[in-house]
Amino acid sequence: MKPLPYARQTIEDDDIESVCAALRSDWLTTGPAVERFERAAGDFVGAPHAVAVSSGTAALHTAMAALGVGPGDEVVVPAMTFVATANAALMVGATPVFADVDPHTLLVDPASVERAIGPRTRAIVGVDYAGQPCDWAALRRIANDHGLALVDDACHALGARSRDGQRVGSLADVTVFSFHPVKHVTTAEGGMVVTADAALAQRARMFRNHGISSDHRKRAELGTWRYEMEELGVNYRLNDLQCALGVTQLAKLPAWLERRRAVARAYDAALAHVGGVRPLAVEAGVEHAWHLYVVQLTGASSARTRAVVWAALRAAGIGANVHYLPVHLHAYYRRRFGTHAGMCPAAEAAYERILSLPMFSSMTDEDVARVVAVLAPALDAAQDVARSCSPPSTATL
Ligand SMILES: *Cc1c(COP(=O)(O)O)cnc(C)c1O
Repeated sequence: MKPLPYARQTIEDDDIESVCAALRSDWLTTGPAVERFERAAGDFVGAPHAVAVSSGTAALHTAMAALGVGPGDEVVVPAMTFVATANAALMVGATPVFADVDPHTLLVDPASVERAIGPRTRAIVGVDYAGQPCDWAALRRIANDHGLALVDDACHALGARSRDGQRVGSLADVTVFSFHPVKHVTTAEGGMVVTADAALAQRARMFRNHGISSDHRKRAELGTWRYEMEELGVNYRLNDLQCALGVTQLAKLPAWLERRRAVARAYDAALAHVGGVRPLAVEAGVEHAWHLYVVQLTGASSARTRAVVWAALRAAGIGANVHYLPVHLHAYYRRRFGTHAGMCPAAEAAYERILSLPMFSSMTDEDVARVVAVLAPALDAAQDVARSCSPPSTATL
């Protein structure tokens, strides 16, 4: 049987033609496709300024730099996220401080954020885990109370909306997206920083281009060879081939989001009859972007059950995955900061029982049925195994 990955890109003929046209043009990098892609992405997410960069990780780093976060500062980040969210603080010399998540949604818990704030805190990062927006109203209140910047790591949530209909991209001071092939739309590698703050956007633009305040096209327009490096920057430019791909990908995003929502509904319906497993909670009224479809195993000995179920899915060619080992439990963080199990109990407990099932826009209803047909008996079998082994392990690592 054909392997079914947990996520994959959709590349169609118009995408290929778009990249070929860019290849035949005068511009391979920082040409007209960059601005086209930036404008299309900004319009789609409701942000006046959009700055394309070379990855989602680059977007996070650029956001931190543009906010002026630096050595001595602390940044509050959720424990349940991809490592890049926290690493971005380290890249500018700041220190990430971990907040715990809500056990039902795995979205950052505002009360835990509040507790993580200290005199050195400069920014709060929310992660719209799996594609569901955080409680941005609560995070905004906390940020305002303490005079902090608010960053949305929306790498899971392109196209999502909050309960009050606000688009992800307009909820925080600065929002970042990723265009890695597993995400909603792809430029192979790529990312975007969006904001309503013109000055912040200008600093992001400079940072992505060596800290130089003008680009080569601007200089050509002005008829000058002179450029000025104002700050220390990097080369995080996204090239014209990638942006040309991004433009045609983005045009298909509304239809792809619809399909992801249909896949989620199909999973919900099928899993309603399967014991031992529960999808993550979705807040009423939010528009979920469904980057991931995550279930939690509900029985005892979940870590062991999960290992058995994961292996059964893999053996059937189904690429289930685990998102994520909480960041503070990674070897690097434990070694450097002395972080340990027990610091974020909800994220740690969730890690033992979560499983991301395949979710992508070209998935069919038959694919969903195939996953559930392997998952349901594997859960039964795994629970039998778990019952026969004792004592259950409670160690995280
Ligand atoms: C994908 C992802 C990133 C990093 O994006 P890249 O484009 O792979 O660098 C950062 N944060 C989260 C939550 C992600 O899912």
